[in-house]
Amino acid sequence: MAAHPPSNRTARRLHAIPPTIFSEMSALAVRTGSLNLGQGFPDVDGPASVIETAVDALRSGHNQYAPGPGVPELREAVATHQARHYGLDLDPSSEVAVTAGATEAIAAAVLALVNPGDEVVVLEPFYDSYVATIEMAGGVRRPVTLRAPDFRLDLDALRAAVTDRTTVLLLNTPHNPTGTVLTREELDAVAQVAIEHDLVVVTDEVYEHLVFDGHEHIPLCTLPGMWERTVSISSAGKTFSLTGWKVGWVTGPEDLVRTVVGAKQWLTFTNAAPLQPAVAYALNEEAGFYEALAKDLQAKRDLLCAGLGTLDLDVYVPEATYFVNTDVRRYGYADAMEFCLALPEKAGVVAIPAQAFYDDREEGRHKVRWAFCKEATVIEEGVRRLGAADLYR
Ligand code: PMP
Ligand code: GLN
Repeated sequence: MAAHPPSNRTARRLHAIPPTIFSEMSALAVRTGSLNLGQGFPDVDGPASVIETAVDALRSGHNQYAPGPGVPELREAVATHQARHYGLDLDPSSEVAVTAGATEAIAAAVLALVNPGDEVVVLEPFYDSYVATIEMAGGVRRPVTLRAPDFRLDLDALRAAVTDRTTVLLLNTPHNPTGTVLTREELDAVAQVAIEHDLVVVTDEVYEHLVFDGHEHIPLCTLPGMWERTVSISSAGKTFSLTGWKVGWVTGPEDLVRTVVGAKQWLTFTNAAPLQPAVAYALNEEAGFYEALAKDLQAKRDLLCAGLGTLDLDVYVPEATYFVNTDVRRYGYADAMEFCLALPEKAGVVAIPAQAFYDDREEGRHKVRWAFCKEATVIEEGVRRLGAADLYR
């Protein structure tokens, strides 16, 4: 089933990295003609005005390399966004850099900050690229598990995960796939641990604006003592429903941003020259888009959770993101992968076996993630198909 298992020519650093579950499951959806409630991408594109700005840029000569750290107008727009939402005062010329999506920002940060043998404390379930990049850097991951049903951060487990070999804490809030938004108390504890052990924190905040029910996203870097040790990451993909553009950014103190750019320059050097001015425009002019998107996603979360709630599974209602997690053990499958592989034939629906995001096999074994960043009619049809199917093994 694995899309690209290692061959005897594959370098050892890739052997422990499974192929990304997202490609595997999206290919399954295409192959079987199933509804794709798996990979997290919206089925409606972001603002037309932003796309038009990119078209203008393509037509008006923005087609050669952008500067390595990004076009100045986008770096300024990111700084302005951080000031407007979080009261931060960033120097766009030294404390902001543009990356090829959050994915490159994560890879560059980990490659730049983690020495072989260093331990990286990371929230489990993990976004899959964290596992891959920590492996590629030769680091050792130390998971701190967010456990069902409420997926809160266990502060004792966090403290216990840190050793004298830990150098980096890789955080993700709002969290994919659980939808947890870390509270100020939880972030205070993270900050305390980071300061006490002199850790750098890399924090992936790509769902910063997709938060529901009045929960508040608090960037870790705004806590006392944290600015100087935090690399913050975000991206236009989720905020503006433009996941294919792969325009992301890192912000932080000058030395950390410089360090990350030190790795980034050898990954892509630079990307998406004509899209960068359009993302600057989006950040400056289209805040209304993500405000409306969060409301829309909250309603879709409710629609999907209500539908899943009529099935024989446990539904863990998320506070944020595109995703809802469930436990499917009552259907009798050995694990979530077996359930998800049976789902296209049984129901014409694809979902993600969240076990792919766990080292803790028992905690992950029966977890399945469903995406609600889809049109209401798609969610309704998915729920209808699931309700009509015999999902038992
Ligand atoms: N981090 C998390 C938690 C994600 O869910 C995703 C997927 N969108 C990414 C990073 C990757 O973001 P990008 O598409 O900007 O590379
Ligand atoms: N972030 C998206 C998700 O979690 C997928 C991105 C990808 O395919 N790498 O579904």
